[in-house]
Amino acid sequence: MKVTAAIINEANKNYQLEALTLGELYSDEVVVKMVASGICQSDEVVRTGKSSITPLPAVMGHEGAGVIEKVGSAVKDLNVGDQVVMAYNYCGACPSCRTGHPSSCSQWTTLNLSGARPDGSHIFFKADGTPVSSFFAQSSFATYTITNVNNLIKVEPEVDLRLVGPLGCGLLTGFGTVVNGLQPKTSSSIVVFGTGGVGLGALMAANIEGCSTIIAVDIHDSRLEIARELGATHTINSSTEHLGERIAKITGSLGVNYSIDTTGISSVMKASIDVLAIAGVSAPVAISKDSIAFNTFKDLSLTNRKLIGVLMGDAVPQITIPQLIRYHNEGKFPFDKLVKFYKFNDINQAAADSTNGQTIKPIVIMDENYRKEEPIGI
Ligand SMILES: [Zn+2]
Ligand SMILES: [Zn+2]
Repeated sequence: MKVTAAIINEANKNYQLEALTLGELYSDEVVVKMVASGICQSDEVVRTGKSSITPLPAVMGHEGAGVIEKVGSAVKDLNVGDQVVMAYNYCGACPSCRTGHPSSCSQWTTLNLSGARPDGSHIFFKADGTPVSSFFAQSSFATYTITNVNNLIKVEPEVDLRLVGPLGCGLLTGFGTVVNGLQPKTSSSIVVFGTGGVGLGALMAANIEGCSTIIAVDIHDSRLEIARELGATHTINSSTEHLGERIAKITGSLGVNYSIDTTGISSVMKASIDVLAIAGVSAPVAISKDSIAFNTFKDLSLTNRKLIGVLMGDAVPQITIPQLIRYHNEGKFPFDKLVKFYKFNDINQAAADSTNGQTIKPIVIMDENYRKEEPIGI
């Protein structure tokens, strides 16, 4: 089967739209006709060479939504024509998967980042037979893709697939880091560093969970304005205001109960620990090559603070994504305010707008005929 995919041939180069061939469909896989896909920072860190975790050339994209075109022989609960959101793959058999923590799957890195199936076979091929890596077993920057059943979340026919792809990674990560990772107490205080898709997902979750002081920190005033619309009680522009002084004033010098860093910048990661109250908990979630130095006694033990790692929000996508759609319908998770739509051909513009801060969550549309009667203005 022939498909058009946006591929990265070399680090630090633009996406190129190329005709590729889809390989064999395995029994536990499906072919998805892509409708749309969000662009996430993790796509960009690979494209810009900040991470070489997946071998190039590669078809990126891991916030996809589409319609099932074909099912493998062992697929039971999904049918041709079903609408699906795509998240990450997991094995389903290891202790973490069995206890409801698929993002801690012992096979996670192999399944999602190695670029191939565990047996080494590939999904995509160039015309000359060169194999092309897939990403998150999903590769949603394509007109059609092959993905595993464990990647898929079936959604109701009335759900607009053009909007919901970002629920599969960035928003799931932000929401889950708060709800499953930090588990804030009612009326507690929380600070979110970085107001991209992950940070704003965390902020909306803090609002849902009943945090009474919700502080957003960024260097773009326009983003802080959106943070206020989404429920931030306080905002700090850390390029023009003194972070420590503002936090002290807001919290009566107690510090915050919870913090999240979504920036991956060393000084910000350290600040996200320094602003904690006694017994505060911090979760750094950005993909980053950078490290921080801290004193385990002074910065953690002495004040009973905790630093926790949370991958993909420690959520079960098949449970949390339908929940996020319900919250969105009830007006509690208005993530449509973060989104801007682009044509598939304009994927490089979408990526650039995301990196320079103009667009919080770009979504590229692969199928412009989907719900043509309800245009979204691209
Ligand atoms: Zn992502
Ligand atoms: Zn597993």
